[in-house]
Amino acid sequence: MRPRLIAIDGPVAVGKSTIGQLLAEKLGYSFIDTGTMYRALTWKALRLGIDLEDEDKLPQLATTTRIEFVLEDVYDKAYRVFVDGEDITGEVRSAEVERNVSLVSKVAGVRRVMVRKQRLMAGKGKIVMAGRDIGTVVLPEAELKIFLTASPEERARRRYLELLNQGNKADYSVILTDLKKRDEIDSQRMVSPLQPAGDAKIIDTEGLTLEQVVQKIWAFVEE
Ligand code: C5P
Repeated sequence: MRPRLIAIDGPVAVGKSTIGQLLAEKLGYSFIDTGTMYRALTWKALRLGIDLEDEDKLPQLATTTRIEFVLEDVYDKAYRVFVDGEDITGEVRSAEVERNVSLVSKVAGVRRVMVRKQRLMAGKGKIVMAGRDIGTVVLPEAELKIFLTASPEERARRRYLELLNQGNKADYSVILTDLKKRDEIDSQRMVSPLQPAGDAKIIDTEGLTLEQVVQKIWAFVEE
């Protein structure tokens, strides 16, 4: 029996989304990227000018905000992100959102609302879900839990090349500094810090291609 719920956790830019999507495709499962949900909420809080550490307003905002993933292209599996019906796909990865998302996601009330929504989305299974606390908090019952790692330098290098390939300007040292800052907030927050579940399979992706990582995970799927 193949696992029906698969959790993929790990730090910034370790490849969770791309790898999760490839795996979901191979299995015919749906893929949910919970990082995008925190980003979408951060985008809305910035637009409304809400204080990004406001412990009353942010959970309320999380409750009332409708975040949807819409499959744009069934062939290349591209998703668009909508907040209250507005397409924000182009903005969800902006530098401003990127700089602030770890602040919003450390608010305990925000996490409570998001975790509830994520559990509902996981429903009856056939899901690959990526994030920071999927194996530990959101889906502790997941039959397969993967925790991906790579050094900050390798992750910054991957993000740098990704930005250049997309035709954007990029500064490696700025990327590395920002990435370390987000890692630190995500790992040291009080509620659901980034850490592997006790029963997670830890995969060091340093020097591996995306396909090689998917192969390693596939071996666990077939176990
Ligand atoms: O995965 P991604 O880099 O898009 O996540 C953006 C941010 O959202 C993370 O740096 C983290 O602060 C937050 N996050 C979280 N819990 C998750 C997923 C993401 O706190 N399950």
